[in-house]
This record gives sequence, C-alpha cells and structure tokens, in this order.
Amino acid sequence: MEIEIATIGGYEEVGRQMTAVRAGDDIVVFDMGLNLSKVLIHDNVETERMHSLDLIDMGAIPDDRIMSDLDGEVKAIVPTHGHLDHIGAISKLAHRYDAPIVASPFTLELVKEEINDEGKFNVQNDLIKMEAGETMSIGERNELEFVNVTHSIIDAINPVLHTPEGAIVYGLDKRMDHTPVIGDPIDMKRFREIGREDNGVLCYIEDCTNANKKGRTPSEAVARSQLRDVMRSLEDYDGGIVATTFSSHIARVTSLVEFAENIGRQPVLLGRSMEKYSGTAERVGAASFPDDLGMYGHRKSVDRAFERIMKEGKENFLPVVTGHQGEPRAMLTRMGRGETPYELDDGDKVIFSARVIPEPTNEGNRYQAEKLLGMQGARIYDDVHVSGHLRQEGHYQMLDALQPQHVIPAHQNMKGFSGYVDLADNEGYEVGRDLHITTNGNIIRLV
Ligand SMILES: [Zn+2]
Repeated sequence: MEIEIATIGGYEEVGRQMTAVRAGDDIVVFDMGLNLSKVLIHDNVETERMHSLDLIDMGAIPDDRIMSDLDGEVKAIVPTHGHLDHIGAISKLAHRYDAPIVASPFTLELVKEEINDEGKFNVQNDLIKMEAGETMSIGERNELEFVNVTHSIIDAINPVLHTPEGAIVYGLDKRMDHTPVIGDPIDMKRFREIGREDNGVLCYIEDCTNANKKGRTPSEAVARSQLRDVMRSLEDYDGGIVATTFSSHIARVTSLVEFAENIGRQPVLLGRSMEKYSGTAERVGAASFPDDLGMYGHRKSVDRAFERIMKEGKENFLPVVTGHQGEPRAMLTRMGRGETPYELDDGDKVIFSARVIPEPTNEGNRYQAEKLLGMQGARIYDDVHVSGHLRQEGHYQMLDALQPQHVIPAHQNMKGFSGYVDLADNEGYEVGRDLHITTNGNIIRLV
C-alpha cells in the first residue's frame, strides 16, 4: 500500500497545524489550525467574516491547496485537542471535504462552537465523538485509534492510523503526565504495545515545541503545588489579588478556584474565553466547579461583577481573568489601563499562571501589560506554570516506546527542530533517509 504524508501547516511555525496521511485510497487529515499571531498583529481583523484564501495569504491558516496532489479520498478530519492552533481553521477549510470531523468529547464541543461562530462558510460536516481507547475503520484496510495523552488542555489524544504497512502515530501535542490533576495519565502502555505490534510504527510525527529544552517537563501536579505555595503566601494579604491563566487550561483554572476558596476568597471567572472554556468543560462533564462560581463573559456583566467586588471588598475575591499574554483587548490589560471598575492599589498582587509564548507579538504585548499593571502599583508573580509540551527526555522516551521506522519533526520552525534532529540523529536516524526535516507544503512518500 502506498503511504504518503503531506506536511501542510505548522512545519515552519508553532501555529496553523495541518497534516494529511494517505494510506492507499484513504486520506486522514490531522488538525486544521489557526496561527493566531498572524491575526493579532493586524488591528481589528475579524476572522469570522474572512475568506479562506485571504487567511491563507496572511499565513493565518494552512494552505491546503496541496491536498489536490494526494490521490485519494478524505475519510476523516481529526483534531487532536481544542487549542486554536489545532482547530481554528476547521470553520474555514472543513466544508471543502466530504468527511466527518472525529474528535474527543471536549474537543468536539469546542469545534462546534467554532463552527457556530463562523460568519462566512457553512460547515456541515458530520461530527463524530470518539473517546481515547476507541477505534474506527477508515476505508477497507485502515483503522483509526485514539490514544490518551496529557497536555495543557483536557481530553487531548494522539491519533494513530493503523495501516497494513505499520502505524502512523501523530504525536501533537503532549507532555508525559502521570498526575494530570484532571483526566487520566498518558497511556504509555498503549504506545509501547503499538511499537511492538506486527508491523510496528512506520512513522512518528512529533511535537517539537520544547525540543531544544533539556530534561523533563514536570507534571501539572507541580504547577498546582507552585500555585498553592504562591496563594498560601498571600493568605493574610487584605487587598486585591488577581490571577490569569490560559482559559482553555481547565486543570489550572480548577486549581485556582480551589485555592481561592482555601484562602477565604470567592473565585470569579471573567472574560469571554474564560466563560466559554470553563462553561463548556462543565457542560460536557469534564470538570466540576462550585455551584455558586460566577462566570461572566459579556462586557456589561463583567463590569457589574467588578462593581460588586469593589463594593463588597476586593479582599473577599479572586478574579480569574483573561490576558496572560498581554492581549490588548483582554481583561487584565483593560484592568491595567484602568478601563474596568476594578481599581488596583499599591501592593495588589497579579499572578500569571502562564508563561509568555516566545513570539515577538506576545512578548511586546506582555511587556506593555506588565508595565501598565506596575504603574498602578501591582506586584507581579510571574511564570507560576509548567509547559504542556515534551522536552528532550520525553522525546527520547517516546522514540524508545514507539521505535518508529521514520520520524518527522513538527510544530516548530527550523531552529526549533534542531534539538530534535540532534536527538534523533544520536538514536541512529539519518536526515533524508528516515529523519524527514520538512517545511509547509511538502509530500513525503514513505512506501
Ligand atoms: Zn496544544
């Protein structure tokens, strides 16, 4: 059976991920993502109304025109998890394929919301819910399996396409977490089994976000304990404390809510995406929050919540807000500019349970947001966080578990790949033979 891999997006950047695998006549597409930084750099771009081709020209979504060079039929579109760099282009591209979107429950719910928000295209692909551990047939001879992995968003999976030539394992995005706070640990047992099945693993496509970092990415339990330490140290502070994190990071939001209550403060989730992700997680039963937890997304209800906090005393609340990257329109940045009813006083605390995503737009925004908050007297607790991506020892363990014949580094640019290329080279892979360094828009023929 002929096997080809089209590296469509996310092979020159972290963002707009998209990869297609052709096995005989069947094609499976993994991820259709958005590169948000290409959108944010322009003022007032509303992607909801934009045409795919304009977004492709901006470098915001994958250029999927290369799909016409693959000689087969798309049988499934499979987003691995709910981050926008993996699902954000579905509403712009999926309608061009007569194939269902297959995803885990939380991811599928977020895909539905993306499709509902779309203002230009009418995406009517079937939506199929599939849990980790389940499989589905792809054509006559191939089978798709979801393996449970752990990442900075719940319900992440790594899809595996079992073909007569061996398994194709799509490894985006994950860290190896055995105590993930919410959900099951990463299923390393299954990866080891797949590596030792009849035909083994033909190809492994790997998340290289942190490939240049030595050592191991700590568990979410470590971020949780860092956060507990910071919050406890502030137990006696009788002014304002504000926290921010990735709104899609449900495990982290859950920890913030819990620790707020432990130090006698009422948590309140504020900001459009805070309300969206936590509300969705609760609706699909993936997370449970206290019954009286306030979640407010709309500008007016957020302002009312802030007014109530100011009236009843800042010392009784922990607002958990959007804006960890200093996004100009997010809640924390608006607070820094003094545009909300919440008034920061000298010595008030701002906890960033996040790290700046190293990219010039974010770095500039975040610098500005911190300066604005600092000018109001806020004290900054930065980097109370662990990453959701494997570092080098995780990559080593994955190679050891899967023993793939071919590897393809992904989810980075050339510089970002270099640590992984070194590692794979040390493990006996050879560039051009079975270690495929590639860019966007290429087709690699494996069989
Ligand atoms: Zn991700």
